[in-house]
Amino acid sequence: MVKAVVGANWGDEGKGKITDLLAGDADIVVRFQGGANAGHTIKNRYGKFALHTLPSGAFNENTVNIIGNGVALNVPILMGEIDDIVSKGVPKPKILISERAQLIMPYHIKFDEYEEERLAGKSFGSTKSGIAPFYSDKFAKIGFQVSDLWDDKEDLLDKIKGITVQKNVLLEDLYHKPPIDVNETYETLMKYKEMIEPYVCDVSLYLDEAIRAGKTILLEGQLGTLKDCDHGIYPMVTSSNTIAAYGAVGCGIPPYEIKQIISVCKAYSSAVGAGEFVSEILDEDVADELRRRGGDGGEYGATTGRPRRMGWFDCVASRYGCRLQGTTDVAFTVLDVLGYLDEIPVCTGYEIDGKVTTDFPVTRLLKKAKPVLETLPGWKCDITGIRNYEDLPENCKNYISFIEKKIGYPITMVSNGPGRDDIIYRKSEL
Ligand code: GDP
Repeated sequence: MVKAVVGANWGDEGKGKITDLLAGDADIVVRFQGGANAGHTIKNRYGKFALHTLPSGAFNENTVNIIGNGVALNVPILMGEIDDIVSKGVPKPKILISERAQLIMPYHIKFDEYEEERLAGKSFGSTKSGIAPFYSDKFAKIGFQVSDLWDDKEDLLDKIKGITVQKNVLLEDLYHKPPIDVNETYETLMKYKEMIEPYVCDVSLYLDEAIRAGKTILLEGQLGTLKDCDHGIYPMVTSSNTIAAYGAVGCGIPPYEIKQIISVCKAYSSAVGAGEFVSEILDEDVADELRRRGGDGGEYGATTGRPRRMGWFDCVASRYGCRLQGTTDVAFTVLDVLGYLDEIPVCTGYEIDGKVTTDFPVTRLLKKAKPVLETLPGWKCDITGIRNYEDLPENCKNYISFIEKKIGYPITMVSNGPGRDDIIYRKSEL
């Protein structure tokens, strides 16, 4: 049985916590897209961890953690994360890396930096992890697949030389930076080969056998629908597809094997970097209070430490986010954080050119959208520690039911704290 845990919003919805929770019963956890440009924060019995590349099953001794072919693999970061968790007492995780995954090269990171520098005020607010240059090269067919590391030396050097010619024109003439050295690049690749050799395999074949054997497989998405390269707020998106459908592509399994799609939706909104964000809280004091109280220790980027932009729950974006994911279940997270508010505004529509819509539009129209806000009463107490849905305050249950109706997808899990046990299962009212 294959399940996917994905984000329905802009990312940072608490997917890591939900995956860590579900990973307890999973034989295999798979990362299928993205790279080290975003992070999951996980709090469990070993401590608090920020994972960027390592799948969230890394804390379960019996779970196999897979880097799928769709991932932008930064080898030193992956190895560093393994060393880090092991040094904190976590048993060495079982890792497999797809021989078809491609490698983030040091020059991808440099190009990301140089281009952001060149764009200055018009930059994408990239995390400078090399993701956009990486995926550009992958689709231009000049990327390095893991399996290329086993090519004959001459063939590999030839490939590097070919790529270097083109890259060095840009480096020297556009960015006025030092060129790439062919031998140095070869040495880097050989270092990566040595580091990943024990883990490399045919992931698609491995998963095919696992599916046939009835194993539980969890696909772990990074970021969320609104950062999807095709369906998100283009161009302020990531350079890969964050939707569950890509899960099949990103690890080589049949799409119809994905039976359950758990879309993680946060009880309020947050977004990182520039881009359209209709339900954003514009009063900085109000936003800052939510930011400080948000998540576990505040809404600041797991990778960059940047303060996140804050907003009220957006039913329009979340309904769209859930639809594009193909949601079977919604995990509604970080609800406990809202306990301090007397009243909670919720964005239920977008006003565009004087008309109200509940359908999420393309970026051109999104730029003109104004939020239509409805206000719900708060519950004014701390709900952490509650384990039964019935025990939640009435106004809190009403908030959940209201949102479930507006988004139209079943909220079957409610997360009321960062820990693995802070979860309430619920029967959908739809
Ligand atoms: P991800 O990338 O989707 O995994 O999200 P992040 O890790 O960036 O952000 C989620 C943050 O919220 C982390 O610090 C989690 O520990 C925390 N978190 C997750 N679920 C809950 C919850 O229900 N309540 C609270 N207070 N924090 C939560």
